[in-house]
Amino acid sequence: MNEIPLKDRMKIKRHPMPAQAPDERIGNFDEVNLGYTPELAWAEAQRCLQCKAAPCTDGCPVHVQIPQFIQHIVDHDSLSAADTILEDNFLPAICGRVCPQENLCESRCVLAKKGKPVAIGNLERYSADVTTKERAKRIEKVEADPTGKKVALVGSGPASLACAGDLIRMGHDVTIYEALHAFGGVLGYGIPEFRLPKSIVAYEINALKKLGVRFEKNVIIGNTIALDELMIEMDYDAVFIGAGAGLPRFLGIPGEELVGIYSANELLTRINLMKAYKKEAITPVLSYQDKVVAVFGAGNTALDSARTALRMGAKKVNIIYRRTEAEMPARVEEVHHAKEEGVEFIFLASPLAFIANKHGWLQSVRLQRMQLGEPDDSGRRRPMPIEGSQYSRDIDMAVIAIGNGSNPLLRNTPGLEFTRWHTLMVNPDTLETTVKGVFAGGDIVTGGATVISAMGAGRKAAQSINGYLTGT
Ligand code: FAD
Repeated sequence: MNEIPLKDRMKIKRHPMPAQAPDERIGNFDEVNLGYTPELAWAEAQRCLQCKAAPCTDGCPVHVQIPQFIQHIVDHDSLSAADTILEDNFLPAICGRVCPQENLCESRCVLAKKGKPVAIGNLERYSADVTTKERAKRIEKVEADPTGKKVALVGSGPASLACAGDLIRMGHDVTIYEALHAFGGVLGYGIPEFRLPKSIVAYEINALKKLGVRFEKNVIIGNTIALDELMIEMDYDAVFIGAGAGLPRFLGIPGEELVGIYSANELLTRINLMKAYKKEAITPVLSYQDKVVAVFGAGNTALDSARTALRMGAKKVNIIYRRTEAEMPARVEEVHHAKEEGVEFIFLASPLAFIANKHGWLQSVRLQRMQLGEPDDSGRRRPMPIEGSQYSRDIDMAVIAIGNGSNPLLRNTPGLEFTRWHTLMVNPDTLETTVKGVFAGGDIVTGGATVISAMGAGRKAAQSINGYLTGT
């Protein structure tokens, strides 16, 4: 029971998440946020007004029962808090860390109208973290009788992990095929260790393995194994495609091929997944020591690249963006942390060309100053060039982080149809593709989105696949 009267609860200030000090953390790849202590979590949970209508739950794409789980924290029952979240969200330790809560659940919190919302994400993370050991000890068994039906999942990102979690519990035989040598999709190769420790991703994958999900790495569906081979020769009864949006977009400007220019995906994969910052790593990167690095873009990928470059020893890191801070799509917390760490932002500037030195290495970038015009289709104000305002900036390295297109590996598969944005075409009600028995969800369908939306799609597809396999 929360014994503090409502009006007093509204006066309690939001409890910030403890974090490593900025000057300390830029020297390591350890997690920046340290997590709430039990005392902090309990104090923050007291702020929840326990609204009957639960607008926060409406703001959550998977409808976690937020007031209920927070009440369990008030009652000092973290395991019940975690269990309540797990009913709807299969990956709470991950979502508590990376969900853009400020645009989702927290944006609907009644307290946000006059002050700061309840720190729902921090409390979700707390509930998951403090119950890790207890949950690992639980022997979870599949209750459903085996259906004898086989399902193959393409890709091991959050869409497939969530889909697999539901399908195995429904009694189906589930195998995940992953193109890379590590599992987790962007959770593994994209989001850096300092935001999402890989041990947390491994924990979730092991939980699925214990339930009986099989994981096969280094298999490219559409290349190593064709989609119809899966269905015909390997006897799969249904397939889920969760292949993500892993194809980097480029600026398409002169000089983009120069030495010293990376796509964000390459940078993050080499450094974060393959640990290029360690001496024993088998993948090389150019030295960042004393370099001036410019990152083009303003989403989470750009912020992750900039903060990774700082940790690699860069002398100066700039984010260069053609709009302003108000239009940045990155999570607010990432922008805040990047500023604390010394990343400098250059707004209203757009790159025109990269210039080489006499050895063909990147030396500078030519920029165009911009101003904001009327809103475009995305609702954000359109950047417009200011005549006669070009200028150059010396840089040693550049990272292109302007978004990703859908993964192209299945594009030539007979029968699979794609939209003009190269995303997979699906029936929005069932998530079935244009090939019978083949379903899809996550970024391969929506384009680059969020972990929670990919998970939601994976779960929705699992329901449809179950209906397809059982005729219900
Ligand atoms: P993915 O996570 O992309 O996984 C797809 C997997 O499929 C990959 O492992 C790929 O190798 C594999 N694959 C592709 N084709 C094949 C094939 N033919 N055969 C076998 N395997 C294949 N979202 C947030 O909510 N919060 C954040 O803070 C955040 N930060 C991000 C930071 C970065 C750097 C990036 C790139 C994205 C970030 N996102 C964030 C977005 C989020 O990670 C994605 O929306 C989400 O991971 C999509 O999940 P998915 O399962 O659809 O695909």
